[in-house]
Amino acid sequence: MAYSHRLLKKFGKFSVFKQTCLIVLAAVIGAETLTLIFYSIFFADRLLLDLLLTSVIVIIVGFPLAYFFIGQQMKLAAMATKLEYAARTDGLTGLTNRKTFFDDAAAVIAGGKHSADTLLFIDVDHFKSINDTYGHAVGDAVLRELASALRASIRERDLAARLGGEEFAVFLLDADREEALQVAERIRSGVRNVLRVVGIMDRAITVSVGVCVREPGQNLDEILLKADHNLYAAKNRGRDLVVVDGPSLSVDRTCRAGAA
Ligand code: GH3
Ligand code: MG
Ligand code: MG
Repeated sequence: MAYSHRLLKKFGKFSVFKQTCLIVLAAVIGAETLTLIFYSIFFADRLLLDLLLTSVIVIIVGFPLAYFFIGQQMKLAAMATKLEYAARTDGLTGLTNRKTFFDDAAAVIAGGKHSADTLLFIDVDHFKSINDTYGHAVGDAVLRELASALRASIRERDLAARLGGEEFAVFLLDADREEALQVAERIRSGVRNVLRVVGIMDRAITVSVGVCVREPGQNLDEILLKADHNLYAAKNRGRDLVVVDGPSLSVDRTCRAGAA
């Protein structure tokens, strides 16, 4: 069963033309086998003619039909892949979208394989003024560059998403408090160059980060609430900050930004 599944998968990767040829070849072999059986019973004197005729009929009828149906099936498969990607992805930045991020993070937590996971909520500071000063198109470019900076700051296995607007989130897998703070700091300092990449030299962009290190038994909703609470605290304390809480829930560490 597994072998035939592998074979089918391999077959599906061939071009429409190759798949069609293989199917028509199989049909010809099947038809010729039948002809041989009939021949041995009924038509002892015209084997070659029968073989030739059945081959021609199978090829003329079978090739266009097989080509059409395989082509349609491949188009549908390609479309399904595109739709699946679009449903999972934020169109502007290419990051995972909000729903997929929360689904994936919930699945990781339910899997229970990791000893420590950490959620980071990231909100760009005063982003509205970027739009107001340089226009929406530049704002979009900044969001795209922010997403790249975010990706560059985390590990391959971590999850990163654009939750909407100028809000992003990262779910670090198997990252304890110290590692989480290092990543959060890397993100906070890494985004500062983003404006330069889009040609704005005279100011730096900053983000506020709310961090929640998941404790055993905590579900996604609980850590969302804490990360959001810490993000709010970072904003209230003047922005350009990472705020993380300890088991006591009190805000006990902040990392102040360096000079722009
Ligand atoms: P704060 O430091 O308090 O977070 O201030 P802020 O200006 O970043 O926050 P606010 O919520 O006031 O503004 C968010 C702005 O993000 C407003 C909206 O125009 C902009 N925005 C949301 N989505 C997009 C987008 O897809 N593209 C662009 N260019 N701007 C967007
Ligand atoms: Mg916001
Ligand atoms: Mg903001």
